[in-house]
Amino acid sequence: MIYPWLLSILEDLTDRQRRDRLPHAMLFVGQGGLGKLQLAKALVHQLLCVSMNSCGECKMCRLLAAGSHPDFKLIEPGEDSRQIKIEQIRQLTDWVNQTAHMGAQKIAILNPAHAMNRNSANALLKAMEEPPANTHLILVSDDPAQLLATIRSRAQIVQVPVPQRSMAIEWLREQDESVAEWDLLLRLADGSPLYAIEKSDEAFLVRRKQISSAWCDLLNGNVDVVTLVDSLSKVAPEEVLLLGMTMFADVARRCLGAGDDAIQNSDLVPQIAEIGEYMSSYQALAAVSRIQTDYRLLKGSQNPNKTLLLEHLMVDCLNMNSTSFGL
Ligand SMILES: [Zn+2]
Repeated sequence: MIYPWLLSILEDLTDRQRRDRLPHAMLFVGQGGLGKLQLAKALVHQLLCVSMNSCGECKMCRLLAAGSHPDFKLIEPGEDSRQIKIEQIRQLTDWVNQTAHMGAQKIAILNPAHAMNRNSANALLKAMEEPPANTHLILVSDDPAQLLATIRSRAQIVQVPVPQRSMAIEWLREQDESVAEWDLLLRLADGSPLYAIEKSDEAFLVRRKQISSAWCDLLNGNVDVVTLVDSLSKVAPEEVLLLGMTMFADVARRCLGAGDDAIQNSDLVPQIAEIGEYMSSYQALAAVSRIQTDYRLLKGSQNPNKTLLLEHLMVDCLNMNSTSFGL
């Protein structure tokens, strides 16, 4: 079972394998919520299955299902870490240099590849310089800009695009036809069906209302920053930033004359219009860029103090809303 929008990519990769043209290193890129890891695992199943069709019944398929196939490795950050550490890459390179246990192929997935710190990345680079035959590395990333350029250039890029809207909506309705807001949720998820699913619980829409009101209150000057951040203490800061980013992007669109149908947050059109009265498109885009920087910090491996980060960010956004702001 594979998501329908991944099917043609998997078929193409399988075809390349049949012609012995599958690259040693591949980099699966595309925004989050599209199932890139699932695609990578599906390819592993195809490659290691005795009959090369993920039969689910051969010894190889059974070992894979049990998570104990010796010729497959999944490298991810440990539970206590956001990084893929150098010890993990050293184990990987040792493993790469052994001969395959069960058959001809050995495959490893690194997910997400941008979780490698600099030392890990350099260690991997060495392994990529002289790849043993019949070994494949699949790097999965929704932020490939964070990878070393030398790693990117040694891997063949496999782009996982956002599915067509009609296909995504049809698939989402098949998952749960009782949800009335699939169109809005898919829009909010930038077209990523798996993120739309994550957003489909009612609690999300309640939090969304709370966060959007908080951004409006901030820019209205209705509340001070410390109280505001405190009121959001039960909400993940990533959600506060993501919604802020898309709201300001909408404000910029609005200032530039876009109609309601171009507004991503289609349930917040009045709020977007209100913020647009205080800000220019230039200021709104500066706010998007400022929030993006902090969002990267939050998702990165440095583990910043989230309350301080939010307070600092809100003060900056407030200043962008005043004439004193300049770049
Ligand atoms: Zn099989």
